[in-house]
Amino acid sequence: MESMRDKLLILAQNLWWTWRPEVRAIFHELDEDSYTRVHRNPVAVLKELDEAQVDERIRETDLPSRIDRARRQLTEYLNPVTTWGLIRAGALKSRPVAYFSAEFGLHECIPIYSGGLGILAGDHLKGASDLDVPLVGVGLLYREGYVHQVLDKEYWQQDVMEPFYVKDLPLNMVKDAGGKPLRVGVELPGRIVYLRIQMAEVGRVKLLLLDTNDPDNDSLDQQVAARLYGGDQRTRIQQELLLGVGGMRALRCLGITPGALHLNEGHSAFAILEWARQKMEICGMDPRKALREVAGSTVFTTHTPVEAGHDKFPPSLAEDHLRTLAEGMGLDLQEVLGLGRTHPHDATEPFMPTVMALRHSRRANGVSALHGAVAREMWQVLWPGRKPEEVPIGHVTNGVHLSTWLAPEVNDIYTARLSPNWKEAMAHPSTWTPIEFIDPGEIWEIRQILKARTIRFARSQVARMRERLELPPLDPPPLDPEALTIGFARRFVPYKRPDLLFTDLDRLAALLNNPKGPVNLIFAGRAHPADREGKALIQQVARLADDPRFNRHIVFLEGHNIHVGRQLYQGVDAWLNTPRRPMEACGTSGMKAVMNGALHISVLDGWWAEAYDGENGFAIGNGEVHVNPEIQHGRDAENLFRLLEDAVVPLYYSRDEDGVPRNWMRHVKRSIRTMAWRCNADRMVMDYVRELYLPAALVSACQMPSP
Ligand SMILES: *Cc1c(COP(=O)(O)O)cnc(C)c1O
Repeated sequence: MESMRDKLLILAQNLWWTWRPEVRAIFHELDEDSYTRVHRNPVAVLKELDEAQVDERIRETDLPSRIDRARRQLTEYLNPVTTWGLIRAGALKSRPVAYFSAEFGLHECIPIYSGGLGILAGDHLKGASDLDVPLVGVGLLYREGYVHQVLDKEYWQQDVMEPFYVKDLPLNMVKDAGGKPLRVGVELPGRIVYLRIQMAEVGRVKLLLLDTNDPDNDSLDQQVAARLYGGDQRTRIQQELLLGVGGMRALRCLGITPGALHLNEGHSAFAILEWARQKMEICGMDPRKALREVAGSTVFTTHTPVEAGHDKFPPSLAEDHLRTLAEGMGLDLQEVLGLGRTHPHDATEPFMPTVMALRHSRRANGVSALHGAVAREMWQVLWPGRKPEEVPIGHVTNGVHLSTWLAPEVNDIYTARLSPNWKEAMAHPSTWTPIEFIDPGEIWEIRQILKARTIRFARSQVARMRERLELPPLDPPPLDPEALTIGFARRFVPYKRPDLLFTDLDRLAALLNNPKGPVNLIFAGRAHPADREGKALIQQVARLADDPRFNRHIVFLEGHNIHVGRQLYQGVDAWLNTPRRPMEACGTSGMKAVMNGALHISVLDGWWAEAYDGENGFAIGNGEVHVNPEIQHGRDAENLFRLLEDAVVPLYYSRDEDGVPRNWMRHVKRSIRTMAWRCNADRMVMDYVRELYLPAALVSACQMPSP
């Protein structure tokens, strides 16, 4: 018979728990230190408890029945009777989608993500799992993860490595029949780097994480993939080769023949070359035909119109690193390098994985309607003679995994008021129509509970930071619990303009301290370790938090990650998004806040350009862009101030006799009803399946036999 500890171990081993708050709560209650160690994962908790200790701890609590229930629900989830994927994506059953990404943001305890791109990848896996779409994720296991942000006394971001123990994670090393770790080799200049395969279960989906920790690698090679986005260009191209080439080899080693290859951003583009090489080896194809076939089965998603977001490898670096692959394909090295150049014969051009991916994927897409159009313009040079609208790049707007981001209380309202099975039909607009019939007071009441929780969280983060910096505690604590509370949390980078409101500090002070309608601003976000401008923006915000003019209505929370993000999305009244249009390809943090009942205040960029309907949130400006960025900055700031002063604040503070802001709540309901069905990961994954994966999976002439 399974002991309680066995049951808990089974639950801990599948990352399904990351989107089941009631299962997270079980582990939380078992963990004596849970308050100070929120990032701990259940495997680590269980490591410290033997069977007797578990039994001791759960005695005379309701945990045994909750554990039994969770255990049964996991079994049911893993053995579904019928699913969307079974019916609509059955063609992918024997040949699944291979989804490659340099980062995956699944939970705060696995720090192999930096921001939006990784979290999107995590949400994509979870959505595919819920729908039961045959898909396997491929990524790198960064043993030191991504840097953690702490501020120093000058409020300058320090990038520290947090202790993070891979052996405590719910990963299983894949082994052969004899119990030896399976591994694949990837040629880097002058040596072979071996990769072991660590497997994570994400509900019904598997995620393969390639691990350089093999005794046959010298210590430097064990470090190549130690840190996400760590190191210089050389480290970068080596990581990308390990991911793309190693990933395709790992799939083959496991007997998985992909029906379609989905490259989430250009970091994994080298998978294209390795897949073509495999087709040549197995089916005797010539290299150009193999590349054409691979293109037919490849889906490429580009995520940024920011020029610097696309790798450019200098010719000599690319030559050193692609020589072996070129030889393996029987191609001239210059021809292979040409695949990643805008002008293939210009040997002075750098090699761009994005260019190679765009040329060798029959299906490419941006991540919102507007970004699709921007990407067509941006990459028109690759299709000389075509007009922008004829460039073969479409779009699938991003979505977010609702179960991951919803507050349990909001989840419960949806279950009670929409339908008990709303999650199975969340991508249908009609699922959300009953929102209109919910009493605004009911949602308002829950929003107040959530806001109190978020403010408590923010205060404790600030207190902890001040203690670490040896600053005196704040008395009274920051943030007015009754005030309209606006959140802004995302990567700090100039184009996102966290400083838009700082163009007029007196006006800002008047807005925040307005006795008839005070406002709180909660900021959080990391800058890339090498981005001094981003760090300067953080410093500016953190210093303003200390400026007495703002009366502690501004806070900056350090250490932004999934945990901090979740706390903010769930409890703020409104979410602020101020990118310089059209630099925000999609943006997803606003979706997470909106689903929890916040209103979105945003420039008409990314997803907001297609979701805003005039009444479901607030638009800053009208989408027009001035050629001079400084003029644009001034205009956007003016528009934002006016919007907050004349529309947002009055709407929030206009209350009925019960103290409920009825009109505000009407907007909240409209916002959820018009956006929830399209902003979720199920809708996104369904679009990928119907428009991209299934057509891509039909083309292959070369069927790869299992090894
Ligand atoms: C959703 C999310 C992001 C992405 O935010 P954008 O609005 O797309 O910039 C970044 N970090 C975390 C922790 C998130 O949850």
